[in-house]
Amino acid sequence: MMKIIDQLNIKIDENLFLKPEYKTDTQISGNKYRKLKYNLLEAQANNCKTLLTFGGAYSNHIAAVAYAGKKYGFETIGVIRGEELMNKWHDNPTLFSAQKHGMKLKFVSRDVYRNKANNDFVETLKKEFGDFNLIAEGGTNNLAVKGCEEILTSVDSEFDFICCPVGTGGTISGLINSSKSHQKILGFPALKGDFLKQDIRKFAKKNNWDLINDYHFGGYAKINEELICFINSFKEKNDIPLDPIYTGKMMYGIFDLMKNGYFPENSKILAIHTGGLQGIEGMNKKLERNKMTLIL
Ligand SMILES: *Cc1c(COP(=O)(O)O)cnc(C)c1O
Repeated sequence: MMKIIDQLNIKIDENLFLKPEYKTDTQISGNKYRKLKYNLLEAQANNCKTLLTFGGAYSNHIAAVAYAGKKYGFETIGVIRGEELMNKWHDNPTLFSAQKHGMKLKFVSRDVYRNKANNDFVETLKKEFGDFNLIAEGGTNNLAVKGCEEILTSVDSEFDFICCPVGTGGTISGLINSSKSHQKILGFPALKGDFLKQDIRKFAKKNNWDLINDYHFGGYAKINEELICFINSFKEKNDIPLDPIYTGKMMYGIFDLMKNGYFPENSKILAIHTGGLQGIEGMNKKLERNKMTLIL
């Protein structure tokens, strides 16, 4: 079950290396795989057959749960934000492939979605679907953090800085917990908001970390031509794809910080490529409608 093969770091330049977590599986974003691993083992141990989770229309987490469910023998249910998608999900590559992998999709309004964690709503879902193992939006919980503690291995202790994108904070928490005290973990939030630090403190056992809030490009899933250009030239130069929501923004940020002398001379930096590549197709559909440059 969920054997994750650690990948060799890839050299980008003299001081910057990349850990290609996106290569752990073609369908599941690297960090989503890590986050699901112990949750699925627990579900199996509890003899639970069904997983239910929440997400938006382009969610890597929804894609990962649907695929993992098919691969490891769970029924899956995805509660999706936005009633308007009910008749349009065929046009959305993430939802289309989730459904293809056997996920039942339930579309709810943004109001209902906002209150998704409340007991009444969960009870309604149990009446509709029977018993299930609930996995939180984005998949962050103690077991997810435990899975992310396995991203860094002993060879990574040579790095001074470890950088990763941040959504709900589970991934960075795992990195912090397994880092060495001489290392600094830098998170690049993909969204605006001050709540993240508190969320990370719930899981992180050390203080050797910080968030760099300057590279969210206006908020979650917001992008512009400059970011697309950066992602495309990075791909041409290194033959490594970046996604527009997480890893593209982080890498843009790292390059910008390097240019501005943020890192002390000769610092060794490791960037965690957390995956998310399944989201490119959906984003490109949006870009095409808006007559913008497409992501390679
Ligand atoms: C979900 C996701 C993240 C954020 O992970 P969190 O644990 O929620 O902070 C980063 N990168 C990619 C590609 C993701 O899919």
